[in-house]
Amino acid sequence: MSPRQDRITGATLSLIPNSFPLAGQWAVLNARQEHRFLAAVQVIDQMSPDRRSALMSRIRATNTQPEMAVRRMLHGLGYRYILHVKRLPGRPDLVFPSRHKVIFIYGCFWHGHSCGRGFRPKTNGTFWAEKLDRNKERDEEQIRELKGLGWQVLTVWECEVRGYEMSRLEQRLVGFLDT
Ligand SMILES: [Zn+2]
Repeated sequence: MSPRQDRITGATLSLIPNSFPLAGQWAVLNARQEHRFLAAVQVIDQMSPDRRSALMSRIRATNTQPEMAVRRMLHGLGYRYILHVKRLPGRPDLVFPSRHKVIFIYGCFWHGHSCGRGFRPKTNGTFWAEKLDRNKERDEEQIRELKGLGWQVLTVWECEVRGYEMSRLEQRLVGFLDT
């Protein structure tokens, strides 16, 4: 089967071969990180349900690569922010107190983006569906709470940061922060 194009990032998607647990899904396989990502999913997939839950309840990704890229970009543009404010719902990645705005940088897989990386593994389907549904519900609830407290919220997806159109992301960030 020939590769196809991710409609959001423009990245080339390949069909995962049969020997992988995620066989039949489309993913970006040409980058080293994608290989590592798939390997990690494979490892989690093979754990017992108890171990899997224990591991994943501890996962709280901060200082991820996409997050660092957004921070570098905003810092370069002259914006100053506070990181991972624990007293706010969802512990937002970037907080701009005087503007009353927060930014979340979401991993496409864990937060269920509608791009190529937001796929759901077929093995252990129920486990993943429950886990990823719960993540999405939690995200929505935290954003609702923040808005209720008077904060404006912007969500940046990992694929926007990895994509080739960084200038578009920059426009989106500046548009959010300056209006
Ligand atoms: Zn995405």
